[in-house]
Amino acid sequence: MGKKKLYIKTYGCQMNVYDGARMADVLAPLGYAPTAAPEDADMIILNTCHIREKAAEKVFSELGRLRPLKARRQHEGARMIVAVAGCVAQAEGAEILARAPFVDIVLGPQTYHRLPETAAPQGVSAFLSVQEGCDKFCTFCVVPYTRGAEASRPVAAIIAEARRLVAQGAREITLLGQNVNAFRGAGPDGGVSGLGRLIRALAEIEGLLRLRYTTSHPLDVDDELVAAHREVATLMPFLHLPVQSGSDRVLQAMNRRHGADDYRRIVERLRRARPDIAFSSDFIVGFPGESDADFAETLALVREIGYAQAFSFKYSPRPGTPAATMAGQIPDAVKAERLAELQALLGEQQQAFNAASIGRTLPVLFEKRGRRPGQLVGRSPYLQAVHAAAPDRLLRSLVSVRLVAAMPNSLAGEVVTKDEAAA
Ligand code: SF4
Repeated sequence: MGKKKLYIKTYGCQMNVYDGARMADVLAPLGYAPTAAPEDADMIILNTCHIREKAAEKVFSELGRLRPLKARRQHEGARMIVAVAGCVAQAEGAEILARAPFVDIVLGPQTYHRLPETAAPQGVSAFLSVQEGCDKFCTFCVVPYTRGAEASRPVAAIIAEARRLVAQGAREITLLGQNVNAFRGAGPDGGVSGLGRLIRALAEIEGLLRLRYTTSHPLDVDDELVAAHREVATLMPFLHLPVQSGSDRVLQAMNRRHGADDYRRIVERLRRARPDIAFSSDFIVGFPGESDADFAETLALVREIGYAQAFSFKYSPRPGTPAATMAGQIPDAVKAERLAELQALLGEQQQAFNAASIGRTLPVLFEKRGRRPGQLVGRSPYLQAVHAAAPDRLLRSLVSVRLVAAMPNSLAGEVVTKDEAAA
């Protein structure tokens, strides 16, 4: 699946420079080649140094910049591993994992030789690439040019890899692709399988408790996929379904090939199939030609759908894409104003969704130890981070947890014991 790109940012002393070079060496056999651009890296390593004053703060502010990059890459259907290595990692490891939970790996100094083993096995929640490329040519997007035409892996290869991941300890698999629900993989019977069928086949794997997929295009939500949402219990009721805008005019200029009402109908079909499904989405504000009225239609759509979570960005021209040279580019101040308004609304919806979870009992897949002793952290079906007092033996298990409080970035819960559940 091509070379993976590695971006290493080295701070400080000569030893670190040396370590940085060795990290690149040990990762080369895994297919990683250095890149100078963090935006499209598959793995980013902050190789830190504690000598300078405020070293830790610098690392945290760098991590703050990386967080949206990682989210964006994930929503382009790619995985970005973020690692913090070196002296700050050693001194502040627990703090890093608490303040920046999206960091995948924390490594002390001169432990670069451990990178391959930590970068390869993926833990409780694993990613599996099933599809690459995109044929949609949205006018703002580089993927069709950089990743090429849609190509799907054969079903048998995917199932074999999924089994391997489960054997290594994965309990949840997220199927990745730039346009994952356009998946058309060669089936073992010589036919072609869509994503719905692939999900059914994967759901048969013993020990695999949860399935997710990202990123989808609304037009590729077919009947088979809707049926999978209705019938496959391991397929999580949480779907990232980008819409980008609520205005038909803007959607057309974006070449999204569907209108706002088509999107509403697709959401409706999925809700009928799986009443507890929740949605997340991507939005671009300030696309060339977007008027106040167009933007108001985006706000109206958001109010109507009600999102559990969403990513929103100011339109930024990507060189080589048609939208970059379109007339009617929007001034940055207008984009910033619209983005703030949209994010305020999406933030309210996310808070409301989390608040509505309080009092509910949801299955949580415990992934790792929490900040406090005796605490585990896991995810609800809706990807909400949940922490609860629980023994280590519940790691990698699905456990019923009653949600009792909502914090800004996570929920607190109490494990429901079998006796209680029966009462
Ligand atoms: S569907 Fe559009 S936004 Fe998504 S990868 Fe393809 S061209 Fe890019």
